[in-house]
Amino acid sequence: MFKKKYRIPFNLPVEFSSYEKVISIFLGVIIPLLVLSDSYVEYFAKQNMINYRKIFLQSALYITLITAGLYKLSQIKRNNLKPGQLCRILKLIDILLVSLILSTLKYGLLFCFIVFVPIVSICITEGFWASMWYVFYATVIQFFSALLVPIIIDAEITLINSLNFSRELFIITLYLVFIVLLRILDMHNDLYTLRELDNQKHLSELKKEYDQLMQARNERQEQFEKLKEVNSQLEEMNRKLTSSLAEFFTLQQISQAISSIFDMNELLKFVNDIILGVMGVATSNIALYNKEGNRLKVQVTNISNARERALLTDNINSPALKECLDKGMTIIDNSVDTNKYSFTKGRNVKSLMCVPLQVKGNTYGLILIEHTITNAFDENSVRLLEVITQQVSIAIENAKLYEKLQDYANTDGLTQVYNRAYFQKRLYEELSRARQQDYEVSIIFFDIDDFKIYNDTYGHLFGDMILQSIALAVKDSVRKDDVVARFGGEEFIILLPYTGKEVAYEKAEELRRKISELVICDQNNNVASSVSVSMGVSTFPTLAKNEIELLNSADKALYAAKERGKNCVSLAQPCTS
Ligand code: GH3
Ligand code: MG
Ligand code: MG
Repeated sequence: MFKKKYRIPFNLPVEFSSYEKVISIFLGVIIPLLVLSDSYVEYFAKQNMINYRKIFLQSALYITLITAGLYKLSQIKRNNLKPGQLCRILKLIDILLVSLILSTLKYGLLFCFIVFVPIVSICITEGFWASMWYVFYATVIQFFSALLVPIIIDAEITLINSLNFSRELFIITLYLVFIVLLRILDMHNDLYTLRELDNQKHLSELKKEYDQLMQARNERQEQFEKLKEVNSQLEEMNRKLTSSLAEFFTLQQISQAISSIFDMNELLKFVNDIILGVMGVATSNIALYNKEGNRLKVQVTNISNARERALLTDNINSPALKECLDKGMTIIDNSVDTNKYSFTKGRNVKSLMCVPLQVKGNTYGLILIEHTITNAFDENSVRLLEVITQQVSIAIENAKLYEKLQDYANTDGLTQVYNRAYFQKRLYEELSRARQQDYEVSIIFFDIDDFKIYNDTYGHLFGDMILQSIALAVKDSVRKDDVVARFGGEEFIILLPYTGKEVAYEKAEELRRKISELVICDQNNNVASSVSVSMGVSTFPTLAKNEIELLNSADKALYAAKERGKNCVSLAQPCTS
């Protein structure tokens, strides 16, 4: 485009720094050559004396010129120095230094055009008219330096005297030639200016694009930060969800176990295994109160070492754990002092947690977990174990209620001994075991003599009291494993495992005697002091071969005792069928 508009005679580089570099190199090379050639002519060809003052000035000026040139180039490179700034001052210094050096030469006038060399870059970058100011400056400087410098260094310029044409004409011609040259170079200034404008346009476009890119980058960074935050929130939620899921799964397993495992010990063992698995602890132990409710007994533990297990079993009622049970509070100790917890002495326990098994104010025992590292437990472990403990506590309470219900269903309400249904169940179980293990089982069947008379005389409530007194007396006089039951009305039956007919007969006699010695009285001063019973005794397998025979034979023996005059014991006849 520019080439069509302007006929540029030669192609110059468009970079300002390139012009300056070329000019500096040119001056750096041409000036020492000129100085050397001048010195050669003066000292060797003409055999003149060496002018040290001149050599010193030339060297100083040359060093200053080179230094100023290097400084200018470094400024252009580092600060992207443009024409018209500090550069103009450096340019004036260049012109001044070149003028001074040329003035020291004996034949300097011949090379006075060199002073215009630094102006070339001004013409190209700032235009012809701008360069004219420098031409003017160079002319003035050169004029004065040509007058003054020879005087200072005590030298004379003789070249002009040797020329054939006048000094003024030579200078004017040289100047005109140079001005024409600058005029030609000015054509390149237009290209330079347009290029500069183009560059600036490009630069501003680039800057705009850069700003847009920076903005986009900032927005992206912002979005990234937001995403990062959302991501960390999601991670946290995920972590919570996973732990909730694990808790949920654990609880589901426990509640399934509660509904499917009816044996309390088996259930506790299952729960203990779940705690070990879910919480990753070294030991897990479940201890429950005994029947009296005053001492803890370890029901389940995973401690395999006999010594350690014994240590825990012996010290589970430690005062440190009692606090947990009394206050109903979880104990969490992440740096265990073995002196405080006696059951940890000599064991590798660094952290422990103890949660009471409590429901509605009833304490059933505790769950104790231990770890071999310090700071093993945090609030999550507490929450999880507390939730598990709640479930287990409810299961224990249900089991206790079920036990109570069973007792209630098996017990006779009036006398508090077992009822007939329970007795028959136990009789069946005991005889089948006796068959397998080959031992004897006896029963004592007894009926209160003339009970109707007591009822009729003192009333039914007194009659009830007689029933209760006899039941209590009998219960107190038999072994723990014997089963006393009310068979119906005023009839009772006693099951005596591991008992032969002789011993059973003796026991019956003892009971009969004891009952006959009872003195029963009520608030109305009604007294019954001669209550008696008739008893029939039978034994498996010596006198009867099965449950029915055993009951029938004892029943018959009882009737036989009645017939014999009551208040006596009769042994059954062996069954023949
Ligand atoms: P025997 O010596 O022949 O056994 O005479 P008995 O009077 O003891 O026998 P009988 O079968 O004639 O009477 C039993 C009485 O026991 C009749 C019944 O009212 C009474 N009885 C049954 N169950 C109860 C009870 O739960 N409470 C009271 N107070 N009396 C009862
Ligand atoms: Mg009867
Ligand atoms: Mg009776």
